[in-house]
Amino acid sequence: MNYAILVNKQNLLSSDFVPEDLVITDNNENNFHNYRDPNFKPMISASILPYFKAMQQAALDAGLKEIIVDSGYRPYEYQKVVFDKFVDEVGYEEACKKVALPGSSEHQTGIAFDIAYMDNGKYQEKTSDEDPEIIWLKENSHKFGFILRYPLGKEAITGYSYERWHYRFVGVELATHLYNENITLEEYYTRLKGQPRTRITKEEDQK
Ligand SMILES: [Zn+2]
Repeated sequence: MNYAILVNKQNLLSSDFVPEDLVITDNNENNFHNYRDPNFKPMISASILPYFKAMQQAALDAGLKEIIVDSGYRPYEYQKVVFDKFVDEVGYEEACKKVALPGSSEHQTGIAFDIAYMDNGKYQEKTSDEDPEIIWLKENSHKFGFILRYPLGKEAITGYSYERWHYRFVGVELATHLYNENITLEEYYTRLKGQPRTRITKEEDQK
């Protein structure tokens, strides 16, 4: 897996891209836009699990709630079902604004996830910008290789609304660089190559 992979509305994953090393992170439902399947548990790539566990433990050590993966890997087909459901409900254009097109969701990579909390054994999905956990993640996640993927004020660059809950693994070095420069992955590629990559193929992913 190329941890620096850029997946967005202009850079789609192929429909057959599936991470090969998915592991279940906990026993909650992989909850997304009311599309529920009790058999579909939150999963991420095993290769980033140690980094996630280290971050989770550091948050606990800082006296915060347990941070858990609320929704990790989502297959292409899953995103398609969700997207088509939105198209039925609100039409194609509105659906495009509200939910990622199949292939354009980072959740298909297995190295992106939405967080929730376990608070004294109780699952807590709701997050707020004032939560100490959200503030801590924003300032510390890069030390473990993660970035807040859709920051406030960068909506026009990422193409997504601010999502305080969505984190993405890019590796410690790149995450630290992006944090220090206060830039998104899109801006990183623009600076690096003059323009964003046009398309990431499955072969490139497996470098
Ligand atoms: Zn997400």
